[in-house]
Amino acid sequence: MPIDPALLELALATKGFMSAVEGDALHAAALAAGTALPGAPWVEVGSYCGRSTVWLGAAARESGTVLFAVDHHRGSEENQAGWEHHDTEVVDPATGQMDTLPFFRRAIHDAGLEQSVVAVVGPSPVVARHWAAPVGFLFIDGGHGEAPARDDYEGWAPHVAIGGTLAIHDVFPDPADGGRPPYEQIYLPALASGRFEEISATGSLRVLTRVG
Ligand code: SAH
Ligand code: MG
Repeated sequence: MPIDPALLELALATKGFMSAVEGDALHAAALAAGTALPGAPWVEVGSYCGRSTVWLGAAARESGTVLFAVDHHRGSEENQAGWEHHDTEVVDPATGQMDTLPFFRRAIHDAGLEQSVVAVVGPSPVVARHWAAPVGFLFIDGGHGEAPARDDYEGWAPHVAIGGTLAIHDVFPDPADGGRPPYEQIYLPALASGRFEEISATGSLRVLTRVG
């Protein structure tokens, strides 16, 4: 079942880096995970202003589960001033630092998803270290530098339940298409571990299932 058209419109009106086809694929993969592992919580690493979160949160609500949306809301390296993906509107003038949390909260409020999406505000490795529940659906779209990507893989992949899903954004096998770390530090190690098998690819989104 596709996402509610009003929520699709809201997702597309939210600042972020996810295309409509990828968002729809993410939503479909999450719904499938909800059927495979009913009630298991979901985790998104890297929410920014909540664009991808609307697709996932809608699926969480339909599946009767909860999405924990992990982000320090200070932006990745590539979101900072002087980098390609910088947006001056998300800088807090009081601190001079990025703060996407107000945009995120507005998006989740407007989507009516506050019961289904719980923001976890802080560094992903710190949250991963203390996380205890088996995860039904894990979406990694956090920092795209080498160390952040590797930390997200190592910190979060072990929490995916057997039969659960690992979705990764910005996977570019051809370096001409984009940065390497999500491909080299998350996607390839997941497959090489023998614990994950690929089930679909849409744009730069890869969906893997945990088999062992
Ligand atoms: N999923 C979003 C885009 C995420 S951009 C969309 O589709 O629109 C990447 C996000 O990862 C940024 O908001 C940044 O703050 C967050 N991030 C990067 N490194 C992080 C870390 N170590 N801990 C927590 N969040 C991090
Ligand atoms: Mg992305």
